[in-house]
Amino acid sequence: MSLSPPSPQPSANPFSALGLNDRIVQTLETLQYQTPTAVQQQAIPAVLAGRDVMAAAQTGTGKTAGFTLPILQRLSKSGTVGANAARALILVPTRELAEQVHDSVRAYAAGLPLRSLAAYGGVSINPQMMALRKGVDVLVATPGRLLDLHRQNAVRFNEVKTLVLDEADRMLDLGFARELDGLIKVLPKKRQTLLFSATFSDQIRALANQMLRDPVRIEATPRNTTVAAIRQWLVPVDKKRKPELFVHLLKKHDWTQVLAFARTRKGVDELVDLLAAKRISADSIHGDKPQPARLRALERFRAGEVRVLVATDVAARGIDIDDLPAVINVDLPIVAEDYVHRTGRTGRKGASGEAVSLVCADEVEQLAAIEVLTRQTLERIEEPGFAPDHRVPMTDAKGQIVKKPKKPKKPKGDAPVVSEDVRFRR
Ligand code: AMP
Repeated sequence: MSLSPPSPQPSANPFSALGLNDRIVQTLETLQYQTPTAVQQQAIPAVLAGRDVMAAAQTGTGKTAGFTLPILQRLSKSGTVGANAARALILVPTRELAEQVHDSVRAYAAGLPLRSLAAYGGVSINPQMMALRKGVDVLVATPGRLLDLHRQNAVRFNEVKTLVLDEADRMLDLGFARELDGLIKVLPKKRQTLLFSATFSDQIRALANQMLRDPVRIEATPRNTTVAAIRQWLVPVDKKRKPELFVHLLKKHDWTQVLAFARTRKGVDELVDLLAAKRISADSIHGDKPQPARLRALERFRAGEVRVLVATDVAARGIDIDDLPAVINVDLPIVAEDYVHRTGRTGRKGASGEAVSLVCADEVEQLAAIEVLTRQTLERIEEPGFAPDHRVPMTDAKGQIVKKPKKPKKPKGDAPVVSEDVRFRR
């Protein structure tokens, strides 16, 4: 496998100029990709040259093609895979993302003599073991299932040349640190490693230090910022009235499709039931739903058969839907970074979108953390008829929460009465 950088070809196609060969460029033409995205501009030549990459890139930046295209090109130029082996591993946090990345791999590999497979937990391991018998060039997998397959000798790692960690921050959030450690121990030391993460915590940096060698650093979007084209605002409301407010906003704004996030499975089910009662087509995806049902819900939503898809963060990871007019946070996420991931589902590729959060008094700490992370104070728009009994304290992008003072004692005598509004003015 040559590690020298590709020589740019004189060609009108900007993907050829990055070093991709005619076959792949033809596929991209079929897919109507005309211009490489920022992350593709930077990642494709680096990966083709055999470099390690550390990229700050979230879903919607075109990162999947950014790492897949050059990997496919390198694989197609360098021999074949042996039985029960894999040559490129793409690690992803969830089954949905595994399916989605694998779909992309298949689309980008059209016409190339390469085999690929998606392997994830929650479904029977046997078909995956069978599929691995002949070996696969590209294996997209969740860390736990990959380790299982390795322990059962269904897959060997001695032919692995490239390892991709996709959405590395989410893998750690989901508690895959141990599995990743286990995998590092059994992977060949000499390999190319590409790490993609939407956010860079100290833990991610430590992982990168451990796994990457002199990486090319890529920053596709400013870290921890939400996409500017998205109009973001919040509506203060009491917790128990959130489902009702959701239905009200849906009618008022007449959004064609909405991706809604609730914190718990119960919250998801309650909202879907209310929507069904109101004859608004809705479906849900959450961790307890069997995989086929989740995929079905996603497909129905993608096809426009369902107007509202209600999801929990974990289940929604990797959902790739373009032109979504609105994302509604029925509950704020516990982890502030998830706010960035959620809102990134709308306003893609320059389209405008709205991200609305229904915020109750209990969620003020989460709100403050989101505002600090995204360096903005979310605009508050009260909805007539839904003003909360439990006031949501004011926050700002510096993380300040203006706590509601204890109820003042009844003024004695002629003491001046200070109105709430004056007390809360910052
Ligand atoms: P990703 O960030 O990898 O999830 O990709 C987001 C979406 O952008 C996917 O639907 C891709 O098919 C699409 N996409 C990726 N690269 C390009 C490109 N260069 N031109 C047009 N669409 C693209």
